[in-house]
Amino acid sequence: MALRDTLEFLLHDWLRVGDLSSRPRFADHSRETFDAVLDTCERIAREKFAPFNRLVDTEEPRFDGEKVIQPAATKAAWDAYAASGMLSAAQDHAAGGMQLPYVLESAANVFFAKGSISIGGSILTVGNANLLMAHGTPLQKQVFAANEFNGRFSGTMCLSEPQAGSSLSDITTRAVPDGADHASDPLGPRYRLRGNKMWISAGEHELTENIIHLVLAKIPGPDGQLVPGVKGISLFIVPKKLVDTQGRLTGERNDVALAGLNHKLGWRGITNTLLNFGEGKFPVRGQGGAGIDGAGAGAIGYLVGQPGDGLRCMFHMMNEARIGIGMAATALGLAGYEAALDYARNRPQGRPVGPSGKDPSQPQVRIIEHADIKRMLLAQKAYSEGALALILYCARLVDEQHTGTPEAADEARMLLEVLTPIAKSWPSEFCLEANSLAIQVHGGYGYTRDFPVEQYWRDNRLNMIHEGTHGIQAADLLGRKVMMEGGRGLKLLAQRIDATIARALHQPELAAHANALAQALQQVGATTKAAWASGDPREALANAVPYMQAFGHLMLAWLWLDQLLAAPSHEGRRRATRYFFHYELPRIDAWLRVVASRDPTCADMPEDAF
Ligand SMILES: Cc1cc2nc3c(=O)[nH]c(=O)nc-3n(C[C@H](O)[C@H](O)[C@H](O)COP(=O)(O)OP(=O)(O)OC[C@H]3O[C@@H](n4cnc5c(N)ncnc54)[C@H](O)[C@@H]3O)c2cc1C
Repeated sequence: MALRDTLEFLLHDWLRVGDLSSRPRFADHSRETFDAVLDTCERIAREKFAPFNRLVDTEEPRFDGEKVIQPAATKAAWDAYAASGMLSAAQDHAAGGMQLPYVLESAANVFFAKGSISIGGSILTVGNANLLMAHGTPLQKQVFAANEFNGRFSGTMCLSEPQAGSSLSDITTRAVPDGADHASDPLGPRYRLRGNKMWISAGEHELTENIIHLVLAKIPGPDGQLVPGVKGISLFIVPKKLVDTQGRLTGERNDVALAGLNHKLGWRGITNTLLNFGEGKFPVRGQGGAGIDGAGAGAIGYLVGQPGDGLRCMFHMMNEARIGIGMAATALGLAGYEAALDYARNRPQGRPVGPSGKDPSQPQVRIIEHADIKRMLLAQKAYSEGALALILYCARLVDEQHTGTPEAADEARMLLEVLTPIAKSWPSEFCLEANSLAIQVHGGYGYTRDFPVEQYWRDNRLNMIHEGTHGIQAADLLGRKVMMEGGRGLKLLAQRIDATIARALHQPELAAHANALAQALQQVGATTKAAWASGDPREALANAVPYMQAFGHLMLAWLWLDQLLAAPSHEGRRRATRYFFHYELPRIDAWLRVVASRDPTCADMPEDAF
């Protein structure tokens, strides 16, 4: 089934997004406007993204000492995306946006991510600008966010440092007030920042007039020391080039310098950078060399929100950022599946085994006729299309959280707390596995650069690492999310799953699936309790990843069955659901067993026994 058809089914027949038009925020929308957005995005992705996916992989960004050089196609893709209005799709009409539901924005972005995951980099710019819309002053919104939404500026998220990735409490970038008048700068309280930020995506390039870095840094206490932990972390806007209150470039270069480009396994269409803030390479506003150790006074940055509130501001945007990562992983899974299906339909190899063995006088068959190839294709279909349903389900909850009745919005918030780590991690793991299977379907050819599947796998390998690693997401799920508010998120999910089970039990052909789902739900609930039975987080969390894998499989089984209820006679969906229930769902037994018994095999392994 073509991606567009799958999306139409999920959006309209399953999630009934048309109902959103009855809400004041989306009143100007209809099936026609939704279709028009999908048409435009599908076309731009086809024309400006997909044809250049291999080019941006082979022509990695390079630095000539002054500028980062990337293929012209990268700029053309950025410009086309910006011109489509998708950067500001969700914004108010008054601010030049479309007031598009987030679920539609996510669906439309699948076309771009599938065409070329790394050519755009727009997800960061939108995330950066959205954060400013939530926490910035009116002038910060107007000067920075508005110019990101119109594509003039782009944005980054500068959290990680060479020594602080998963543990952001250990960042050492410091920010000190910039002069006696620092509090009265119209762009926000002005600080000087010094430190190094590692892994910063789109940290340097020539695609836009300016780059707006959002930087986490610590303001030292009165004793000059940095406050340990996350409480001391604040958030700053640090533009690459300084601007005035009208958003015009002042001609001053801020002291943000590219220390080097990271050379990555995949996602090579976007730069990844080590940035030095305030080390004196670009002395700014007459204080060059005036730093404490003569290394520069610092890059100029404007505080966002309150001091010490930086991580909270960042995390405000995490749900959408993490759903975005899940969407990226899903799109790559879908791309690999499409390529593998096409290859399997055309590659003749081998002969079927009949009751008396193989008959070499018969012509070869296409590999799609072998059961094992069908197994691998079905797995890819079940993983990728299932992940797409999960992502859009979560995106629809985001719309509910923003525009639903207070009760529905609160329920959506709670469900998203639990589902977001799954939406980020399950596609990152299983759509990566789908890409590995796509290579396997291609045999040796899949291992070469003559076919696209090896790149999909390399591109997808990132998603288990950034935006919170797999291990960190799993600890968040089992350590925090399923326990929050007395386990309310889990209870709400169970109610929704039970409703699906009850409907499926009315259809004889779905009853076996319904019963298997009920049993899996019961197992996950019981295991959650068993994991925490001793109340010791070291024991409970030692097997957090297998817990997350099982939880994710439960979600996928549920969503496959729920989709089937919306289209019970759809052959492809019926078969994928059956595959998931017969081959995948039983795997949760093994995953949950070690969680429930708080198996210490890994935790107790002595280091010197490795
Ligand atoms: C291509 C790319 C793009 C990126 N883009 C950005 C960006 O734009 N902005 C930005 O700020 N960052 C970015 N990152 C950084 C990314 O978020 C970090 O790499 C990630 O958070 C992990 O940090 P780390 O690399 O320091 O690994 P570490 O934190 O050192 O983790 C190494 C391993 O240890 C595990 N681990 C760590 N702590 C624990 C723990 N307490 N319990 C159990 N296991 C643990 C991790 O799960 C992981 O498997 C990017 C990274 C990459 C590779």
